[in-house]
Amino acid sequence: MLKKGTKPFFEKSLRNNLKRSLGAYVHKITMLDGRIYIQHKEEYEIQVESILHKTFGIADYHLAYTSILAMEHIQTSITELIEEAGLEETLTFKVESRRANKSFPHTSYDISVLLGSWLQKSHPNWRVNVHHPEITIVVEVREQVYVYLIKNQEKQGAGGLPVGSVGRGILLLSGGIDSPVAGYLMCKRGLNLVAIHFHTPPYTGEESLDKVKALAQGLSGWNSGKIALYIINFTPIQLEVNKLSKGEFTTIVSRIFMMQIASKIQEKEEAKALITGEALAQVASQTLESLQVTDALSDSLILRPCIGMDKNEIIHFAQKIKTFETSIIPATDCCSLFAPKHPSTRPKKEEVRDLISQCHLGALIDEAVDSAEIIILSHTNNLDLIQE
Ligand code: ATP
Ligand code: MG
Repeated sequence: MLKKGTKPFFEKSLRNNLKRSLGAYVHKITMLDGRIYIQHKEEYEIQVESILHKTFGIADYHLAYTSILAMEHIQTSITELIEEAGLEETLTFKVESRRANKSFPHTSYDISVLLGSWLQKSHPNWRVNVHHPEITIVVEVREQVYVYLIKNQEKQGAGGLPVGSVGRGILLLSGGIDSPVAGYLMCKRGLNLVAIHFHTPPYTGEESLDKVKALAQGLSGWNSGKIALYIINFTPIQLEVNKLSKGEFTTIVSRIFMMQIASKIQEKEEAKALITGEALAQVASQTLESLQVTDALSDSLILRPCIGMDKNEIIHFAQKIKTFETSIIPATDCCSLFAPKHPSTRPKKEEVRDLISQCHLGALIDEAVDSAEIIILSHTNNLDLIQE
């Protein structure tokens, strides 16, 4: 999908991400013709596979067997491949061949025909189906031969763009369902994430923090393995906001202060945008009017990838990325805890600006940023919390 001129940049970025995350599991990573060949250490096949599955920028990946440039050796590799895959007795298949190495004596068409008829003899219940096969055996003839299997023409890669290739984004991570999904979606579009969570001790407790750490850790698997989580003490600011006479505006005013703090961390982290889990009209602070006022009174570009989604669609993603179970654990959240009974759904910019200037919170905002606790969370396959 990429323009020719920009492709090498993204490829290099992907290769660097793979080098970093696969590190000790592989012997060699090489790149040729828009493909990356990873020669993994045999004992780490499962680890490599689980990392590739979560690496954005990969359209598709396969476990390939290699052989020397001779038909009988290719057949041996295919036999091994088939045995390892544990396939059905009866199925439809095709052989797809590519010959990049023209010194190989057979054309790609001949390779497919020869191997196809050989397979039919050895597997009498297999039928050729070139349009919709259940399995495709791919044979690529290069400096050596690679054979691999595609089941039901399904792609295994996570898609998207390599993490970090587009820049860095600050994810406002609550304990809810939506913000982890927003983080995942922007990570997929190439943003490297840094997360921020606002808590209000003693009104919110350790259980909300544990939830957010678990969510950030879950996301770190998509973020090249690590994520920095800033924990901000929002209590002094929230208590000041609560003193405002116009109670119906406290939610939007708090939200704007959150954005202001997030903007300062954005600057510190050299990030380019903020990311939230807001969806249009889901709650009072997510009406068009509220979003417009938030944008007008914030310094940053705010990305809201869930904006057009129904709750069910967001839940579907949350289940897919396995954050849903954590998100629904009951815990107090500062937004709902301090929410007025009847929040305004149609705030006016001037009115909110006046309220913000009445608060005089410059020093408290700086204090909140300076006293942030930063936790680095790393992804592990057994999902234990690792803190550095
Ligand atoms: P979520 O499910 O992500 O909590 P939501 O639909 O419940 O979203 P709100 O609680 O109004 O909506 O929050 C909207 C967005 O603001 C969240 O998606 C998140 O990005 C950000 N946000 C809200 N509360 C916090 C918090 N305590 N810390 C960090 N970000 C927050
Ligand atoms: Mg919420």
